[in-house]
Amino acid sequence: MRDPLNAQEMLRQNLHLVLHVLVPAAVAAAFYRDRFVRAFLVLVATMLVDLDHLLADPVYDPGRCSIGFHPLHSVPAIGAYAIAALWPRLRLIAIGLLIHMALDGVDCVWMANESSQSN
Ligand SMILES: [Zn+2]
Repeated sequence: MRDPLNAQEMLRQNLHLVLHVLVPAAVAAAFYRDRFVRAFLVLVATMLVDLDHLLADPVYDPGRCSIGFHPLHSVPAIGAYAIAALWPRLRLIAIGLLIHMALDGVDCVWMANESSQSN
């Protein structure tokens, strides 16, 4: 028999990955319709911010909250992305980074709920 919590964790991880593609696609379609492909590619490329996971040990831990743990997922970094969004030249990259942080944050809340249910 499969542990229902593991099934829920798999759902969370898969949904997280899908949202990292779907939300940028939706934002590009809504706000950058005239240059959708370029905007979508820039937004998806901001997933490179996860390269800061390479500094962590282990590099990937499905039960770890990224926000506040990895340097590019820290509160000061997120503040810098918000400020960068004020400049038109940096806006798209900053929006991509903020979407990423929001999705990672949702994941943290979900994980916190999962662990409080299992205790
Ligand atoms: Zn991340």
